[in-house]
Amino acid sequence: MNANPAGNGGSPETWGEGRLAALEVVEAALPPPVTEGMVLEATDIHVSFGGVRALRGASLRIPAGTIVGLIGPNGSGKSTLFDVINGFTVPDSGRVRAFGEDITDLNPWNRARLGMCRTFQANHIDPNLTVYENLITGAFLSIGGGVFTSVFQFPAPRRGQRQAAELTRAVARLMDLEKVLDVRAGVLSFGGQRRAEIGRSIMSRPRLLLLDEPSAGMDSHEASDLLGLVTRLQSDLGFAVCLIEHFVRIVFDHCAIVYALAEGQVIAEGTPDEVSSSPAAQEHYLGEQ
Ligand code: ADP
Ligand code: MG
Repeated sequence: MNANPAGNGGSPETWGEGRLAALEVVEAALPPPVTEGMVLEATDIHVSFGGVRALRGASLRIPAGTIVGLIGPNGSGKSTLFDVINGFTVPDSGRVRAFGEDITDLNPWNRARLGMCRTFQANHIDPNLTVYENLITGAFLSIGGGVFTSVFQFPAPRRGQRQAAELTRAVARLMDLEKVLDVRAGVLSFGGQRRAEIGRSIMSRPRLLLLDEPSAGMDSHEASDLLGLVTRLQSDLGFAVCLIEHFVRIVFDHCAIVYALAEGQVIAEGTPDEVSSSPAAQEHYLGEQ
């Protein structure tokens, strides 16, 4: 990000204060993050689409409070693994555990209620709604707790509306969208649209955030800025993140743990140093960079 990521024209000091206040609002709305052990374990996942074996025994573990990066060539099964994790695709075999329970048979909706939030490779914001409206729809995903119930349930709807509005503004502040809240999302820059999408995910109160190529379509500088923003949010708010990213250097800079996939299998996993020096990753993938 630039020196004044909020883009509010204030000094770094005033920006810092505003950010702190926004963080407090968001932190109060989020469910308590998982603080130890594994947030997610996907074990020995197999998925075939007709004759295409998209995943062949892939396993992935996301520790609490960590950013995990998923890299691999196009078609190596990264998005399919996300689909299995969030319940869009039922695996042929393998199990998924999250937040301490086996969720393999849970539908995506109920996984979202547990705190699993996802963005997609293509933008999924509504270009005709304002940024504010796009953000606030994220709150509706977390039915069963927090903002949604307080907005729509008797006896305190007004207070709930105020809380939802306050949360939306706080998330906008953290995502550098404060000045464009009333702008139609479709006219934002590509980066702005991606920030709005991530902001909407945060509105849905994640304990685990899955980001599928959040920087798709960006150059490496914009991608690095965006991942810097995600890293900061993660460390301030404590949820776990797993992200798919094609700029490998940026993954190594921002992720504590990296998984490299090729042809539906994990060919290397570990710290950025371990993965970057792995002969299998070099041979299949990194050598081509
Ligand atoms: P990545 O995200 O790593 O680029 P994907 O998980 O999207 O890879 O795809 C893995 C493989 O599965 C590819 O060969 C892709 O064509 C295939 N695939 C993915 N989704 C489907 C689907 N819904 N139907 C058929 N084939 C699919
Ligand atoms: Mg993909």
